[in-house]
Amino acid sequence: MGDLAQSVGSLVALVTQGDLRAPPSRRAYVCPKTRQDETCDGRLHYSVIDDGDSRPCPLDRYRAVRAELADALELAGYSKGRNPLADPVHQVLLAKWSESNQGGLKTDYPGPGEALHRAHELASMGLGSGYHLLMHGNKGTGKTRIGLALLFWALWDGKRACRVSWADLVKVANGQSSFDGEAQKAAEMTIDRWRKQALILFDDLGTRDERENERAFATLGSFLDNYSGQIVATTNLRGATGGDAFIRAQDRLMATREIKGARLKAVAVAFDGPSQRRV
Ligand SMILES: [Zn+2]
Repeated sequence: MGDLAQSVGSLVALVTQGDLRAPPSRRAYVCPKTRQDETCDGRLHYSVIDDGDSRPCPLDRYRAVRAELADALELAGYSKGRNPLADPVHQVLLAKWSESNQGGLKTDYPGPGEALHRAHELASMGLGSGYHLLMHGNKGTGKTRIGLALLFWALWDGKRACRVSWADLVKVANGQSSFDGEAQKAAEMTIDRWRKQALILFDDLGTRDERENERAFATLGSFLDNYSGQIVATTNLRGATGGDAFIRAQDRLMATREIKGARLKAVAVAFDGPSQRRV
């Protein structure tokens, strides 16, 4: 009798141990958003209690946007070979960020550090419900990396979020002013989709082409007037370099955001300080 109890006991121990030792590669593919009574097939979560009951996987959009922006992510430091469930995009991008700036060795200006601080602050407020954030400065300073981190953090948290590139914005601006009814309709549909997002990353706003700026920033400005979500934006334009249209759009971006009665002042972070402005 004792022997049997003992062998059952050791069998249980063995099974438990075996479970703990599941290879990390397999473990990594388990959707981290599955509840105890669910299984995830990558698109839907099925209840193991109620047969046939299902809900969309909260990471469905996260995965789709990751696939869509794989190239941009690779450039920002999140390689295509990574498993986005095992290594959440925002964690990797922000961790890499703090490593590369450890001790402030590479920079003598506070921009990146402040942006990192803001990223965590916004996440703690709940992405989609914080102030607008504008990051400006030269190319290659990491503005997009922080922007993408916030976008994917929002998606990870199950929020609706998307990136709008300059090309997307120009396309919509052209559509709106087009005489082609179909193009106009497509532009309006895109704007409707943007309106439903809790957070939008407007990445790399502006060009050196004043006329293109004029059109696209007019579209951005009127969109902002009717949008209740949160904006994260990056640009390498500064002041008058983007023309009057940019200044007007920037004023709108920097306007105070009202949400549930609270007034949130927008924040601008400069990524290049005085030492880099020497000509
Ligand atoms: Zn899932």
